[in-house]
Amino acid sequence: MLCIEHFIGGESRPSISAERMRVWDPARGRAYATLASGDSRDVDEAVRQARAAVGPLKQLSLAQRAQLLHRVADLLEARSEEFAQAESLDAGKPIRLCRDIEIPRAIANLRFFAAAATQFGSESYADSSAMNLVLRAPLGVVGTISPWNLPLYLLTWKIAPALAAGNAVIAKPSELTPMTASMLAPLFHAAGFPAGAFNVLHGTGARVGEAMVKHRDIKAISFTGGTETGRAIYAAAAPQFKKLSLELGGKNATVVFADTDLAAAMPTLVRSAFQNQGQICLCGSRLFIERSVFKAFREAFVEQVQRMTIGNPQLESTDQGALISAAHRDKVERHLAVAHAEGGRLLCGGDRPALDDDLREGFYLRPSVFDSLPFDCRTNQEEIFGPLATLIPFDDETEVLTMANSTPFGLAASVWTRDFARAQRMSEGLDAGLVWINSWMSRDLRAPFGGVKQSGLGREGGLEAMRFFTESKTISWPR
Ligand code: NAD
Repeated sequence: MLCIEHFIGGESRPSISAERMRVWDPARGRAYATLASGDSRDVDEAVRQARAAVGPLKQLSLAQRAQLLHRVADLLEARSEEFAQAESLDAGKPIRLCRDIEIPRAIANLRFFAAAATQFGSESYADSSAMNLVLRAPLGVVGTISPWNLPLYLLTWKIAPALAAGNAVIAKPSELTPMTASMLAPLFHAAGFPAGAFNVLHGTGARVGEAMVKHRDIKAISFTGGTETGRAIYAAAAPQFKKLSLELGGKNATVVFADTDLAAAMPTLVRSAFQNQGQICLCGSRLFIERSVFKAFREAFVEQVQRMTIGNPQLESTDQGALISAAHRDKVERHLAVAHAEGGRLLCGGDRPALDDDLREGFYLRPSVFDSLPFDCRTNQEEIFGPLATLIPFDDETEVLTMANSTPFGLAASVWTRDFARAQRMSEGLDAGLVWINSWMSRDLRAPFGGVKQSGLGREGGLEAMRFFTESKTISWPR
C-alpha cells in the first residue's frame, strides 16, 4: 500500500505521533494508501520550517519568484498525465475532467500568479499638502485549507498567489484527497524554492486544520470548504483577528427562459447540474424553467441525464464517476429520502447503479432529477453537493428572483435567455458573487471569485488574491 507523508522543510516526513489514516479509492470502495495523520506538533514544526524560509524568500527578486513558479508549472506540465491519473483515482472523478480541466487549470494557476508576481503594483496618492506611498509586504507564514472536490485545482489557486506575494505556505489538503498535493510538494523543492517555503500537512480538519487556524505565527488562512466549517474557522480565528478568506457552500440557481435555444443549451445545462457527480460548489442544482417550456425542457433534460455513462472513472468514456466517500453517498441518499418525503416526483435516478467486478463496492449513485417540489422545501434550500437536481417552473422574472434568492447561499447562478436587457436585469437581481449568461463555469483568472451571504467572505482571483496575501503600509510625507 502507498504511504503518503507530510512535506515539511523540503523533505517528506511521517507524523511526530506516527499515526496514520487510510485513503480510499472511491471507485472501488477500498483503501489504497495510508496517510500521515498530523496534529498540533506537526503544525508547530511546519511553522518553524516555514518561518526559516521567510528570510530567503525575501531575498528573491520579483522576477526570481515568477521564474520559480513557472519552473514548478513546467515540472507539473511534464507529468500532467501522471497527475491526472492520480487525481482520478484519489477522488473517483472521471479522468476526462482531470486531463481536460483540472490539471491544466492547476498549471494555469501557477503560471497566472507567476505573472502576477511581476505585475502587482501599489498605489500612491498625492495632494498639495502630502504625498502618500502605499507599500505592500508579504504576511510571512500563511495557511491554506482546501476541500476534496477539485483537489489540485483549488490548492494551487491558493498557494500560487500566496507564494507569488512572497509568503511561506503551509497547505492542508483534504484528508480524503491528499495524493496530488503530496506529489506536487517536492516539485517546489526541485524548482529551487527555499526549503520550508512550501509545506504540506496531512490529517483531519479537527486536528491539523484547527491547529493551523489557532497558530499565532500563521498570519492568514485561505479556506475553501463547507459553510459550517467556515463558521467554525471564523470563530476560532476571531480572538487573533486573523486575516481570513472563506469560500463556502452554494445552492446555485440555473434560470432558463422560454426564448433559450434548448437543444443547443442542453449539454451545458446537464453538465452544470452533474459535472463531477454534482460535487462542484458552482453546480446549478436548482433549475428554474419558464412554465411555457417546462414540459419540453423536462423531457429533453431527463433524456440526456439518463444517457450519461456511469462507471470506471479511469475510462475516457465515463461521464459520472463515484462519490467521494461512503459517508457522503449516505448523506446524498438521506437527501433523496427527504425529497421523496417532501412530495417530490422522481424523474430519473434515485438509486445505486449495478456495476460489475471491482467497481461493485464503489460509492456510486445514479444522477437524480426531481420535480413537484416547492422552492422553499429542504431539498431546495440545503446544499446537497451530489448528483441531485430539481426542476421548478416559474411565470415571471419577479417570481423567479424571489425563489432563486430564497436560500442562505449566494455563490453563483446562470441565466439562459436571448433577451440581453432581461439578462442584465436578472444578473443585477440575483444574490450571487458570479452570474453566467448563457454559459457555465467559464473563468477569467483576473476576475474576482467568491460568494455572498453564507457562501463566503472575501474574494479570490487576480489582484484580490495578491492583496489578501499582503499587508499594506501607507507612508506619508509633507510636500
Ligand atoms: P469541509 O468543510 O468538510 O472540509 C474542507 C477542508 O477543511 C478539509 O481540508 C478539512 O479537513 C478542513 N477542516 C474541516 N474541519 C475543520 C476545522 N474545524 N478547522 C479547520 N479546517 C477544517 O468541506 P469538504 O467536504 O471538503 O468540501 C465540500 C464543501 O466545500 C462544499 O460545501 C462545497 O460547496 C465547498 N466548496 C466551496 C467552494 C467555493 O469556491 N466556494 C469550492 C469547492 C468546494
